[in-house]
Amino acid sequence: MRRKMTSSQKKHNPQRRCVACGHVRDKRDLIRIVRTPEGGIKIDERGKMAGRGAYLCRARRCWDKVLKQPKVLARALKADIGPDALEALAAYAATLPEEQSPSEDENGVVLEGQ
Ligand SMILES: [Zn+2]
Repeated sequence: MRRKMTSSQKKHNPQRRCVACGHVRDKRDLIRIVRTPEGGIKIDERGKMAGRGAYLCRARRCWDKVLKQPKVLARALKADIGPDALEALAAYAATLPEEQSPSEDENGVVLEGQ
């Protein structure tokens, strides 16, 4: 199943669904995980990398969920999630807040521990 992206939605903030909790948010409030053309799994904070992407909330509990059930992510990306990828995801998850605060605020990205 392949959907073609059109440029007609440019002005509208694109919405994406978190693969862990199913919550639909602005794309910019989610973190994109991408399967690169080389078959690696990367965390793509800017949402610009080439490859098939899946989205997760900026909340550790959503990441914990996919870490416990990598199949969810594997299915979304149509890729195997190897131990290396899981480790990278776990490391990233550790930097996230437990819950994502409701995001009305445009620059609501809180970087902790910097
Ligand atoms: Zn979520």
